[in-house]
Amino acid sequence: MHSMKEVNVEVLVVGGGTAGVSAALAAAEEGATVCLAEIGSGVGGVGTHTGVHVYYLGTHTGMQRKLDKEIQEVAGNLGGKVKGFHPEAKKIRLEERLAQNGVTILYDHLAVQVILEGKRVTGVVFESPYEVLSVRAKVVLDCTGNGDICALADAPFESGREWDGVMHAYSLPPRYLKEEAEIADFLNFDVGWVDSSSARDVSRALLEARKLLWDLPELGGDRLIAVGSQLGVREGRRIVGQYVLTLEDLALDRRFADVVMRCYSHYDNHAMDLANESRFAQIWEGVIGAWKDRIGCDVPYRSFVPVETDGLLIACRALSMDHDTSTAFRMQPDMHCVGEVAGTAAALCVQTGCLPRDLEVSALQRRLINRGVLKEGELVRQSAPWLTLDDDTREQRNWTVETVRRPEVQRRLIEALGTEQEGPAIWWLWKSGEKTIPLLKETLTKSEGKQQRGVAMALALLGDRAGAACLVRAVEEEALDAPPGFERFIPPRWIACLILLKELQEASCLEVMLDRLQRRNPTARLPAFSQILHVLHYLIAVSEQIPPDTLAKVKQAVYQLLAEPGLGEDWQVNMELDNSIRWNIEMTAAYLLVLLGEDNGYVILDGYMTDGRAYARNMAHRLKVRLLQKAVPQDERMEVQH
Ligand SMILES: Cc1cc2nc3c(=O)[nH]c(=O)nc-3n(C[C@H](O)[C@H](O)[C@H](O)COP(=O)(O)OP(=O)(O)OC[C@H]3O[C@@H](n4cnc5c(N)ncnc54)[C@H](O)[C@@H]3O)c2cc1C
Repeated sequence: MHSMKEVNVEVLVVGGGTAGVSAALAAAEEGATVCLAEIGSGVGGVGTHTGVHVYYLGTHTGMQRKLDKEIQEVAGNLGGKVKGFHPEAKKIRLEERLAQNGVTILYDHLAVQVILEGKRVTGVVFESPYEVLSVRAKVVLDCTGNGDICALADAPFESGREWDGVMHAYSLPPRYLKEEAEIADFLNFDVGWVDSSSARDVSRALLEARKLLWDLPELGGDRLIAVGSQLGVREGRRIVGQYVLTLEDLALDRRFADVVMRCYSHYDNHAMDLANESRFAQIWEGVIGAWKDRIGCDVPYRSFVPVETDGLLIACRALSMDHDTSTAFRMQPDMHCVGEVAGTAAALCVQTGCLPRDLEVSALQRRLINRGVLKEGELVRQSAPWLTLDDDTREQRNWTVETVRRPEVQRRLIEALGTEQEGPAIWWLWKSGEKTIPLLKETLTKSEGKQQRGVAMALALLGDRAGAACLVRAVEEEALDAPPGFERFIPPRWIACLILLKELQEASCLEVMLDRLQRRNPTARLPAFSQILHVLHYLIAVSEQIPPDTLAKVKQAVYQLLAEPGLGEDWQVNMELDNSIRWNIEMTAAYLLVLLGEDNGYVILDGYMTDGRAYARNMAHRLKVRLLQKAVPQDERMEVQH
């Protein structure tokens, strides 16, 4: 055992990845003494170690714009052509800039423990092959991607989706020579699922990914150059901060008085099993059809500040947001800004002798305007929500919940139902609130066909059952039309209607759904596994309404499903490589069985409690806890949670 050494700095940045380098540079430029500790042996994180060397959406502001030009110059000296930025050039230039600004870089240093004084983090202990080092700091920035430092400090966090705890798909991108252009590119293929907070699961995922890599047709011949040294993890812990950003905030372009940057992307969820996603996500993608629509909003300083822990800021993709938002607010340009904001805030805390939660935000905003992260006008601008009807631009109309209630706007929205612009129209009718219900009901009786179905969908979102029969008809007739958009991510209208019937807990589709569970009609838009999951979730939603004489039939259909060979094996990762989602279907079916009074469901879940895949164990645990909570009266629930 090495003896522990101790050093003191003003700002300690843990993690030298996408956000971490920006954080360290900003803090140093603002006058703080900075130490940057990184477990790997180079800076740049996902962009350089995983090899995702392309920026996608995000806000390109602040210091990174200048840095990117400098990186391009270095790349020119290295030679060769690379899509996006040259990862080696990025490492070289970032290291030079860190050195110029006096930042101490510690490579091969793994953060293993935090030093706490009450609820305040005052330092971090690192282990390396050569030493155990304690770094004391006035402010610590958690730039580990997964929020490791916050977790070590016992800060509350969430992870994965609410239903099954599953995190966003992971990848192990290979770099290869693209035939036509003789350019080094990377393949952003999705392998499957991983629990990124479990070292064993990350190891399993790496082994699985490497085996699959060799089936990628793009890598044939002698095209492969290298494979990323670090697993491509898209989601990990999300630390609970003073404000939790939601996808609706992004969709409505919400403004916050404590804005410190803006984020920009789309609901870039790679999951093919929409039925397992949140209620909001199913509406956004499945009903509105807005998977590809660009969205973004103000990011409040409060999302950087953990609820309880102090002396620490969240400064990476573990920022305080919900799962849906984490599919959008994660791109490298946004993470550069997150780092720059946190580094600037940390230096200001040092200068003013305050804790991060007590920082005067207006002073931070002024610094960020000087640095080019924020624009002066962004402090006073109006929200400009993103979804519009085609002939409008966002600037033209700035719709708000109040303005869409105007009769002339409502007329336009209703006219758009049943057309290609139905998605945004349904969204705004929903957002305009229950005052719209009388007009919708009146239109329901006067309209027909797709427009009537659109009216029924808007009514269902507002919690009104008047159009339920129309939705049931669309499900029975298996309406296959869909809003325009990326085919793999926008389900046909009968699924949108089923999502809304589930929302209404409308059980009159029961018989049809039992039939659908056995007789599927898969299309590229809706593979069999996806249909099965939608139907199972519908049956879960209406399980309490199943009449006694139908119960046996439902159970039989579920058992029959579970016995099906090849169940869930049509699940495909992004590059059409095969994988199986059987584990998820089996556990969802098991949950339904328990609700139907079949203890066999518990047996299935118990079987997964010892599964080799941490994400499958997590799901089994989550569903079991939920079932036990359902069985226990409200006031006795605390015990079950322990
Ligand atoms: C497969 C994949 C494809 C993507 N595609 C794109 C794309 O095309 N374009 C785009 O803009 N974005 C893309 N993204 C998103 C983006 O790259 C990431 O969300 C972003 O880079 C995350 O930045 P970060 O700073 O939070 O984490 P990272 O960049 O991962 O940095 C975290 C750093 O902390 C270090 N670290 C972790 N734990 C410790 C510890 N305990 N002690 C010390 N050091 C530690 C890590 O080694 C790493 O260097 C993609 C992401 C993935 C995974």
